[in-house]
Amino acid sequence: MNGTTIAAISTPQAEGGIAVIRISGDSSLEIADKVFHTISGKLPSEMKGYTCAYGKAVRNDEVLDEGVLTVFKAPKSYTGEDVVEISCHGGIYVSRMILRTVIDAGAVLAEAGEFTKRAFQNGKLMLTEAEAVMDIISASSERELKFARSIQEGAVYRRIRGIIDKMVEVLGALAAWADYPEDDIPEVEPDVLRSNLCEVCDELFKVIDTGDYGRIIKEGVSAVIIGRPNVGKSTLFNLLNGCDRSIVTDIAGTTRDVVEERIRLGDATLRLWDTAGIRETEDVIEQIGVNIARERLERADLVLAVFDGTEPLSEEDEELLHKLKGKRVIAIVNKLDKSVKSGLKERLSGEFEKCIEMSAKEGKGLEELTEAIEEMFYKGDIIPEMGILSNERQLCCAKSAKELVDEAIEALDVGINLDAITVILDGAAEELMNLTGERVSEKVVEDVFSRFCVGK
Ligand code: GDP
Ligand code: MG
Repeated sequence: MNGTTIAAISTPQAEGGIAVIRISGDSSLEIADKVFHTISGKLPSEMKGYTCAYGKAVRNDEVLDEGVLTVFKAPKSYTGEDVVEISCHGGIYVSRMILRTVIDAGAVLAEAGEFTKRAFQNGKLMLTEAEAVMDIISASSERELKFARSIQEGAVYRRIRGIIDKMVEVLGALAAWADYPEDDIPEVEPDVLRSNLCEVCDELFKVIDTGDYGRIIKEGVSAVIIGRPNVGKSTLFNLLNGCDRSIVTDIAGTTRDVVEERIRLGDATLRLWDTAGIRETEDVIEQIGVNIARERLERADLVLAVFDGTEPLSEEDEELLHKLKGKRVIAIVNKLDKSVKSGLKERLSGEFEKCIEMSAKEGKGLEELTEAIEEMFYKGDIIPEMGILSNERQLCCAKSAKELVDEAIEALDVGINLDAITVILDGAAEELMNLTGERVSEKVVEDVFSRFCVGK
């Protein structure tokens, strides 16, 4: 248990119906005795856990406000420590005065995320579950909330723990064999070891493979609009955006910057970029835009490649087809309101995952595009309860672990001794325990909780 007792206003710093001042630590009740007088006269320190009392918050014998005090006794509280919450009227000044009184009575101001950090340190939740707390707070859709809740309920922890257990089993067999060679312990069969490690590797591959899904749920699908000048990229961007955000003209090279908007399209959230395309240009400013477009293209989850349906594919279009190989692309044959060249859709369908005919100007084909995006990124057999990683930190740990398991399999194949393999596998298990937070450095913990809000 931590020595200091911390306090913060846990509700937003704004006027509202109620404000809550939260106190956690060994001296919580003692502090509450000083700052809160219950109507019945009973001291907060005499109250049982999970009970509350109506009364007055008092500073130097002067009443600041009336409110309700709730007591949680260790370990049955959010942090696992003694916790007191004072609910008062939701004013900025009044809640700050109560907090100041609590601090004067012996508490220290809590840092961002410190309540949840203590909950983690006291074993109330795993690191992945603690991270999900913040995701619940920032969730802005049903899908995001469900995803965050599944992790908070331990889906990621259970999945990763399952893999660690399997590794521990392998390591156990290796250790027994290494430590007691004279006993009757059967030598570890390389074939059995190999197949066990491959199983671990497959499972890690699946975890990593669905890793992007978590980011997409939280941040949206990053989608970049690409195509040669005047095919209608900015018109499409404005259509998806629901307003004229990007400038549209029939002059090639109008869009020189990269314009970004976060939009909702049916069930999908997109972080959508309109670009100048990726052609070579003499215009210095446009060239900067083109460079940014290239970089966005590298990182994008989805490319909306626009082609002018009234013209045959140009050399520039052909080059683009080449550059987009291996990416997730929806080809858009635009200007359907005019007569569209025959065979274009067929040709592009052969090149890309999906091809849609549209008129960005008249909004035709929008439904089909929406469905295609939903289908590509949100349907399928991924369900949150599987335990899908939710951030870069977790993904990095999983990737490092997989690399090490791969290395161990290679080492086994070339006949390196089992002691060396044990060391490599220990490293892999360590990475996974880093992920769950079972064995994690203070630096990482600091980093995770610094992203929290104060009072959480
Ligand atoms: P960008 O250079 O690819 O961004 O293209 P713009 O969106 O600026 O459009 C270039 C020209 O094509 C403008 O004159 C638009 O009005 C026109 N345009 C864009 N989409 C359509 C469409 O669906 N149908 C027709 N007929 N014209 C379009
Ligand atoms: Mg444009």
